[in-house]
Amino acid sequence: PSLPELEALQHADLAGLLPVPAAESDKYRRGVVGVVAGSARYPGAAVLSVAGALRGGSGAVRYVGPAADAVVARFPETLVHAGPPGKAGRVQGWVVGPGLGDNADAVREVLASDVPVLVDADGLRLLDAAAVRDRQAPTLLTPHAGEAAALLGVAREAVEAARLDSVRELAARFGATVLLKGSTTLVAPPARERAPVRVNPMGTPWLATAGSGDVLSGLAGSLLAAGLDARDAGSAAAYLHGLAGRHAAARGVPITAMQVAAALPAAWRDVHAD
Ligand code: AMP
Ligand code: MG
Repeated sequence: PSLPELEALQHADLAGLLPVPAAESDKYRRGVVGVVAGSARYPGAAVLSVAGALRGGSGAVRYVGPAADAVVARFPETLVHAGPPGKAGRVQGWVVGPGLGDNADAVREVLASDVPVLVDADGLRLLDAAAVRDRQAPTLLTPHAGEAAALLGVAREAVEAARLDSVRELAARFGATVLLKGSTTLVAPPARERAPVRVNPMGTPWLATAGSGDVLSGLAGSLLAAGLDARDAGSAAAYLHGLAGRHAAARGVPITAMQVAAALPAAWRDVHAD
């Protein structure tokens, strides 16, 4: 039978996707997410990605990069590591890229790991397609339209005019799962998975605010580290992020990215409420 091309993620599906700690769990078994983000120029991206990662259901967040002081001041729960990601201790899933600047070595090291990796933002600029295609563990790329256009070598308008084709083309070129952000978010698995593209129905245009995507990257990476596959992690994260945005912006109040992260527990409660 031929596969449907698209499927909408339903509210009722979410509860079954999200991680639940087993009675015997410890923080390592729940998954450690490593966040490689931030630079002297963009320290806040590190804080926001960690803010999302702390609400994604993994057992611990390990931050790797130059913004450790800012991260720990805001989130003392975070484990930090000042050296390169390859020496950071155990991690079950990586997020690399938000506010990273030009640290191509960090991207290369993370892609060389044998655990799931999410690449966002500056990480997408520094990406070697062959290194992604050679990976055995899942890879999730999370571009917005401008980043997708740069990866495809086309104009942003061309991506906006053909979002479904664009996300599929990226998934094919990289052999990875690709989450294309925007007013609707599409998550395309690599062709070998023979699975439909997921459409996220949940969101609000108030999410179009600086740092919002950094929160999403941490959240999705945390779900990857907790054991979800790339399509489930990406689509569940987009849904929770959209729901959190709606909570935070209820009654038409402008929101900050940090408020979206702070509303994630309310989004989880909604998912488990019915
Ligand atoms: P970024 O561009 O990386 O900061 O990510 C922006 C985030 O906000 C993504 O999760 C987008 O899907 C979301 N977003 C941006 N614009 C809109 C919109 N008009 N409606 C709903 N969500 C949006
Ligand atoms: Mg972004």
